[in-house]
Order: sequence, then structure tokens, then C-alpha cells
Amino acid sequence: MSTHPSEDLLEAYVMRHTDHAVCQRIEGHLRECESCQQVFVEVKSYVREIKIALRAGSQSEKRSQQINPNPNVIVDRQQGKQLILL
Ligand SMILES: [Zn+2]
Repeated sequence: MSTHPSEDLLEAYVMRHTDHAVCQRIEGHLRECESCQQVFVEVKSYVREIKIALRAGSQSEKRSQQINPNPNVIVDRQQGKQLILL
């Protein structure tokens, strides 16, 4: 890759949304380009935050889908009460 990968592309790479050939091009570029390494570190840290937020969200979503089709209502099995999320 002769040009720098865009931040969006780096984000897709971190999220593993790029295909294998693209991954290899980005990896090769990152090995040689210090400025992209810096961008990559930043992208990686905010993608990690997004993933943590998504994981927390998807867990409660999964639980509510199993018990109640309304995504705004989560039934807490252990306590047996409904938590309303606004
Ligand atoms: Zn670069």
C-alpha cells in the first residue's frame, strides 16, 4: 500500500471487518510507517472502548430478548423484577 490507510480503514482492520488481503496490506504498511502506527494505537484504544460498551449492551439485550421481546424492559432473573431502561 503506497498511500496511508484511512482512519476508517484502520478502524475496520481493528474490528476485523477487512478481508485477509487488506489486513496484510495494512499490517505491512504499519510495520514501515510510524505516523500510521500512532494513528493505529489511537484507533485501537477507542475501538476497545466501543467494544466494551457494545459487549455490555449486547449482554443486556440478549437477556431481554430471551425473556421479553420489548428491548426497553429487562427482566432480572435473580431478583425477579423488571428494570425499565429509558
Ligand atoms: Zn502510513
